[in-house]
Amino acid sequence: MNRPALLTLDDALAQLLAHATPLTHDTQRVQTVSTFEADGRVLAQAVVSELQVPPHDNSAMDGYAVRVADCQQADAVLRVTQRIPAGSHGTALNAGEAARIFTGAPIPEGADAVVMQEDCEALDNGERVSVRKAPTLGQSIRRAGEDVALGAEVLAQGTRLNPASLGLAASIGLAQLRVVDQPRVALFSTGDELVMPSDVAPKDMPAGAIYNSNRFFLRAMLQRMGCAVTDLGIVPDQREATVAALRDAALSHDLIVTSGGVSVGEEDHIKPAVQALGELNLWQLAIKPGKPFAYGKIHQANRACHFMGLPGNPVSSFVTFLLLVRPFLLALQGVTQTDIPRTAMTAHFDWPRADKRREFLRVRRNAQSGLDLFPNQSSGVLTSAVWGDGVVDHPAGQTIQHGDTVRFISFAEWLA
Ligand code: AMP
Ligand code: MG
Repeated sequence: MNRPALLTLDDALAQLLAHATPLTHDTQRVQTVSTFEADGRVLAQAVVSELQVPPHDNSAMDGYAVRVADCQQADAVLRVTQRIPAGSHGTALNAGEAARIFTGAPIPEGADAVVMQEDCEALDNGERVSVRKAPTLGQSIRRAGEDVALGAEVLAQGTRLNPASLGLAASIGLAQLRVVDQPRVALFSTGDELVMPSDVAPKDMPAGAIYNSNRFFLRAMLQRMGCAVTDLGIVPDQREATVAALRDAALSHDLIVTSGGVSVGEEDHIKPAVQALGELNLWQLAIKPGKPFAYGKIHQANRACHFMGLPGNPVSSFVTFLLLVRPFLLALQGVTQTDIPRTAMTAHFDWPRADKRREFLRVRRNAQSGLDLFPNQSSGVLTSAVWGDGVVDHPAGQTIQHGDTVRFISFAEWLA
């Protein structure tokens, strides 16, 4: 039988992103949150500064503010006429005078350099100072506005906030930020073989049962992506139960993510259930692991809820989440940069068998700046994702020889 060609990852991604209308198209999906609480959220509007940072020229050092013209020869001696700690401000500096100044304190009018205290010697109990080294104009002065200019856009709309950006927002006086509402995501696992660690101890595991591991990492990854997650647990491998779970979840969520049950076996009920309730837009990709990925929409009460079906095999589920669910969720939140960077690295392993599908090999960086391969690349072996610190994005139809340059994606970056 002649099977239709599988969809490439790039085609699938382009189609997915075309379906991902940003939540902010609905004005009710924008929220104001405390800057303290905004880590990981996405800005619904650009952040523009109403002041300059720093607000005034200030000292970069503990030392003496001086007039360069007064210190042309070595060991010039100046009168210390004022003391300016951070948080206060001085008065104008006249010729022949110096101001004792501390880091962050405003530069007094007339001063045009700061000499650090290590290059000075206090004389007469600090009433005078000898400047050992002639300063240059502007030395050790942090200029007003050198960090942020008045009216500058410091953070663009669609920025995913991180600790540094929260600090920057606070530095221009923002106690609150306008962010995109959290995507509401329902998660369920399929598989009659699945049991929860909290329900059955290892010694009591019945024959044929396995623990539901996907539920744990999928839920954690959704939360890291800033989603409000409804965890619906395990849905039995039955058509009616699957239809009911999808239909109910579609009423109040933006996206339903499932794991398992999306292959071609007669215990795989997800695909027909989605088709019965809406549309299946994508199914089966030319990637390894992760081929049985599905995307569709469930129509309920005049609205459509996105659906993403991930494969049951844990590594397939893990990798398809990162490759496909992650960029989709970013796009829903209005993030424009949804790609993950690939770094050129050297393979310290051989991969002698080319595959028809694009592969994502679990690897780990070694001390020689190369990549080691986890020996078991089976899609069921979750150890590979823990031992590994990323994947090699390996094109279809190619082999790898020790020393070849490959494209590496770091889990730390991907899961951030
Ligand atoms: P399926 O995609 O449902 O055919 O499942 C493929 C393989 O993944 C089977 O060996 C399942 O037992 C396993 N599997 C499915 N769901 C999970 C899960 N939530 N946690 C761990 N393994 C799973
Ligand atoms: Mg199954």
